[in-house]
Amino acid sequence: MGDLALIFAFALGPALCVGAAGALTLRLLRERSVTVHIVTLLVVTVTAMVAAVAMVADQMFLSPHDRNVVLITVAAAALVSLTVGWLFGRRLAAAAVWADQARQRERQIEQGRRDLVAWVSHDLRTPLAGLRAMAEALEDRVVNDPASVSEYHRRIRVETDRMTRLVDDLFELSRINAGALRLTLSAVPLGDVVSDAVASAAPLAAACRVRLLAPDSGWPTVLASEPELARVVGNLLLNAVRYTPSEGTVRVEAGADTDCAWLAVADTCGGIPEEDLPRVFEVAFRGERARTPCPSTGGPASAGEPTSSGGLGLAIVRGLVEAHGGRVQVRNTTGGCRFEVRLPLPGTA
Ligand code: ADP
Repeated sequence: MGDLALIFAFALGPALCVGAAGALTLRLLRERSVTVHIVTLLVVTVTAMVAAVAMVADQMFLSPHDRNVVLITVAAAALVSLTVGWLFGRRLAAAAVWADQARQRERQIEQGRRDLVAWVSHDLRTPLAGLRAMAEALEDRVVNDPASVSEYHRRIRVETDRMTRLVDDLFELSRINAGALRLTLSAVPLGDVVSDAVASAAPLAAACRVRLLAPDSGWPTVLASEPELARVVGNLLLNAVRYTPSEGTVRVEAGADTDCAWLAVADTCGGIPEEDLPRVFEVAFRGERARTPCPSTGGPASAGEPTSSGGLGLAIVRGLVEAHGGRVQVRNTTGGCRFEVRLPLPGTA
């Protein structure tokens, strides 16, 4: 028993030293990746075991040959343990990182849902209260001169249209978020989609005295679902017109690289504040400019433009573009900003 206790003490000494050094190393490496931690942990464990065996073998007065046999055996076992540990450790680390990212994504989505519900209830409550007040005034004949009555009717219609668009946008967004969007992809001539969008935005552009420029030719063909692509182009174009001061210019351009086509909508809005740039595609994000109506028309709603101005337009754009396997970005340019959409070319899917 005395011998065994002695052997235990001899094995414990070097193992404890390695363990202490390992603990210190792990502490110094605490900012490093999970893989580094797992590998260090393995090295410490295996080295502690090797050190204990080597020390005991040394104390057992083995012949040099037998001691080498013990050490080679331990080294082989250590090598296998380290290799297997390293391989599985990497997988474990990747799984841990993936799980962490998934948790973060889930938290962001949950936060987005909460913001959306709060925002929708706010955005619907205000116009609903207005509609109710106007309907009551008409019912009680508080307003009865024909001009006021027809103005009230007009405002009720405009508000109802706006709320309908808002609900449509919400429905579209929920379809995108739920992955329920079924795209029928085909080769779509981008020029046709842009010319339709330009024609729809022209009345608003004229009312806001904004020049709309788009080349007549040179448009690429893209792999897309036409109604969704039309929505993307329409939203970008109408935003550009709405946020550009009068006498400004909105320019639509497109081209093709080797692997994708691009469409750019550039305006002279004066630029988006740098701190807002990463947030413009978020659901319910509305910048300062969203509260500044087009001055020549007395506001977007009265100009009759078909966007909701509800902070959903760009979130829908991003959702639809990503559903096509493309991406959308925005950057400031001299005196304005430029939204760029990249979409796959036919035959590249
Ligand atoms: P909405 O326009 O209804 O507020 P969007 O999602 O379409 O919502 O846009 C989000 C915000 O991004 C806008 O409130 C505005 O601040 C900014 N924005 C979008 N498009 C433009 C643009 N073309 N020029 C300048 N700012 C823009």
